[in-house]
Formats: sequence, structure tokens, C-alpha cells
Amino acid sequence: PSATANMKDKSDRATSEQVLDPRTRIILFKMIGRGLIYEVNGCISTGKEANVYHAFTPEKNHLALKIYKTSILVFKDRDKYVTGEFRFRRGYSRHNPRKMVRLWAEKEMRNLKRMYTTGIRCPEPIEVRENVLVMSFLGDKEGWASPRLKDAEIPAAALPSLYIELLSMVRKMFLECKLVHADLSEYNILYHVDQPASTKPSAESTPANTVPSTQASADLHGHLYIIDVSQSVEHDHPHAFDFLRSDLRNLEDFFAKRGISCVGLRRAFEYVTRERLLPSDEGPEDVEAILRAWMEQPEPEELADSADGSSAGAGADAAHEDAVFMRSYIPRTLNEVYDPERDVGTLSRGEGEKLIYKDVIGIVEPKDTRHAERGENAEAQPAQT
Ligand code: ADP
Ligand code: MG
Repeated sequence: PSATANMKDKSDRATSEQVLDPRTRIILFKMIGRGLIYEVNGCISTGKEANVYHAFTPEKNHLALKIYKTSILVFKDRDKYVTGEFRFRRGYSRHNPRKMVRLWAEKEMRNLKRMYTTGIRCPEPIEVRENVLVMSFLGDKEGWASPRLKDAEIPAAALPSLYIELLSMVRKMFLECKLVHADLSEYNILYHVDQPASTKPSAESTPANTVPSTQASADLHGHLYIIDVSQSVEHDHPHAFDFLRSDLRNLEDFFAKRGISCVGLRRAFEYVTRERLLPSDEGPEDVEAILRAWMEQPEPEELADSADGSSAGAGADAAHEDAVFMRSYIPRTLNEVYDPERDVGTLSRGEGEKLIYKDVIGIVEPKDTRHAERGENAEAQPAQT
């Protein structure tokens, strides 16, 4: 395995040496000294802000190292993810790149921890030291990294259930981890097969980060893993809903293009943000079954009704609705309501259904218990640190 890994490395050698500044090398040497890693080999990915390497433990198990670049320029455009976030107000220095990069690495570690402990499929976070994040390696026994969703060869029949499991992870991330990914797309999702049967990748034709097609076409069941969460934001970040919407739009677009009957942006948003999905308050909900039912129901009448008062239309209306929803501003807290007097007027005329954010912040008089429940949640949210 070491030989193949080294082969992968050849073309990337120049780039990899560029990211490993002396201080980063010392961090790696210390990790080797402590027996956390045995050697660092192939570069799995070179990115704008970080490179990802394959490493071995002394027991020859695989690890992934994400090494953030320490140059000043690349992190400049990341401010939008930081603004308004409480846990970054202190110690965030735009002028000290090492410090800044360290914060991003630590943030990714923390976010991965939250996700991993909630049972979301993601790399297992192992350790962070300054700009080096050590995590479990998602790949096969030979050390080939699992492909990104974008590049994966996935049997068409598996796509609907992958769509459901993905939306369910985003839901869990939002409701349990209180996080919005903020850069979620087919680029930051890996299609990973657990415990693959032994396969021999053909070295001459298989790029470093694709899985041999024999694996994908077998009946081994692959799953989607969410990666790259350094820019993820708390659910009460001022732009959390904007980020969530664009995350969901990416997923809807990806799966719709592959012929999956997606639920549409608006229902996807509800699926992710609503604690309870159905009016009835009886017993626990099987949310995935509800999502599956939504997928078979392309014309959501109650949504079309509440959007503009007209009756349900065809699929084109749903697309239009998504477009309107995409443009509409959703306040995250009551302080952000643009024109409270107008909205109170709308409410007192009994037209609360017109408010696009009615469900999210629970301001509509409860027609049924689910609204009351969400109202409590909305109040509890800002207590995060
Ligand atoms: P970037 O900020 O450069 O986008 P990512 O976290 O998305 O960083 O990682 C870049 C690439 O490295 C991913 O697209 C994936 O191919 C690979 N990668 C990242 N983490 C792992 C991992 N734990 N196991 C295997 N491959 C990984
Ligand atoms: Mg990425």
C-alpha cells in the first residue's frame, strides 16, 4: 500500500512541499514521535485553503490529514462565515494568519466532533494541532480515497435512498448539532463504501480519488459522508438560513438532474428545520417515511395555498415557488424582522399564513400543537455559545 500511495504523490510533490512550512513539519514530526502517525504519504487533494494527505498509523491503519495553508491571502474571503458568530468574536485575528488558520482547523475539529457524536456520517475527528487536523480516512483498504459525490459512479436505483439519507443528515446537523454546513454540495460529500470487498485498483487508469467501478456496481451499499465543515455556522448565525437554502438548493439540483423526484427547495427546508413535520401530535414521527411520501407527491397543495392564496398548480408552480422562496428573506430572530408593524398587521387581520417565515419562528397562532412546540424552540435557540 505504501508503494501505491507514494506513486500518487509524485505529481503533487511540488505542491505538498509548498504547504509544509517548517512549523507544520515540526507538528508532523511530533505526531510521529508520539506514535499517532507513522508516515505521511500521498496527497489526496490540493485545495485553495488546505491540502489533504493520506497517512499511516504505526499499525498501518489509514488516516487523513487536512493541513491548512498558512498564507495570508486565502482566508480573506471567509469573513462572512465568521461575522456575528459569538464563539469567534474573541481571538479572531485577520492579521495573524497562523492564528487564523489554527482557528479554522479547530473549528472544523469541533464541528466534526458534534456531527460524529450525533451519528452523522462524517470522518471521525482524531486530533487537531495548530493547522493540522487528523481524522479517519474514508477510502478502501488499499488507501484509495472514496470519491466525491460529484465523481462517484452510483447505481441509479440507490439515488433516492441516498437523497433521503443526505437530507436526514442535514436535518440532524441542524436540529441536533445546531449547525448549517454552509458549503454543502456534491464536492463536499463523499460516496463511501464501508468494509469493501478486496479490490485491486488498476494503477494506470484509476485516479487517486476515485473508487474502482467494480465496487460501485457491486451490491455493496455505499453511503454519503459529509466533509469540509470548517466554515459551518451555528444555526443562529445571522445568515444561517441563507447558507442552508443554498446548501439545499445544491442538493436539490444535483439529485433533480439525475432524475430523482426531489421534494423541492421549500419542503426540503421544512424537512431540515421543523422538529415535527405533520400536524398530528400523536407519537413519534418516522421522518424519513414522511420525506419519502413527499417525494411521491409533487404538488404540495397546502404549500401552494399558503404561498399566494391561489390553488395548487403544476410542477412549474413548484419551481416558481422555489424561486420565490430562494429570494425571500427569512429573519433568523425576531430582532431581524424587517417591518414588524406590517407583519403584526398581517397577523391581526388573520392573514398570518402569508408570512413566509411563519413556521420557522413560530409566530403564527397555533392551529395545532406542532406550532407551539416550534415556538418554544425558537426561543431556546439564542442561548448557544
Ligand atoms: P477543501 O477545503 O480543500 O475543499 P476538503 O475537506 O473538502 O477540503 O477535502 C478536500 C478533498 O480531500 C475532498 O474532496 C476529498 O476528496 C478528500 N478528503 C477530505 N477528507 C477526507 C477523508 N477523511 N478521507 C478521504 N478523503 C478525504
Ligand atoms: Mg471541499
